[in-house]
Amino acid sequence: MSFLESIHCQFELSQEDSLQEISKISKIRMKHEWEFVRIFHSKEEAAEYIKLEDQFTFYYRNYTQIDGRKQIYRCKNTYHRKITCHASIQLIFNNDSNEVTMWKSKYDHTHNDKKRGLMNKEKDLIRRWYSQNIKEPKAIIREFRKVQEEVPMRSQIISFLSQHKKNLKVHAESIWVS
Ligand SMILES: [Zn+2]
Repeated sequence: MSFLESIHCQFELSQEDSLQEISKISKIRMKHEWEFVRIFHSKEEAAEYIKLEDQFTFYYRNYTQIDGRKQIYRCKNTYHRKITCHASIQLIFNNDSNEVTMWKSKYDHTHNDKKRGLMNKEKDLIRRWYSQNIKEPKAIIREFRKVQEEVPMRSQIISFLSQHKKNLKVHAESIWVS
């Protein structure tokens, strides 16, 4: 079944359920386990977003009286490469409009993918440490160990450092000229 076909899959709502009641309970429950990410105005928009982001893959669909109809996606590394990662997202389909809300699990990516690039927050950390005079890859790796479980590869740190130095130099020269 294609992604779009699966996203179009229909679910039936039990007659007894009050929609308002469902959304009220759903909001309370969501707060604890899932973090709200964004809202889409159609199923197609949600599907397109997930496709472009290219991080998650369809896992299963579900219907519960509390949450309504929803689809769960897992980190695609878990799926394709059999690596354990707890990062997941879910789409919840509003019962009385086309709106779809996207939620992410409280777990960040935990897969140990050495081929991945540096994440933006890791780049920020390196820039910050660099400004605090922590400039050697070895020292940077030591700092990473203090703040996160998965440490980026040394080669990635080295290549980012050289790029960062170049940027700083260009920046300094432009200040000098002006
Ligand atoms: Zn992952």
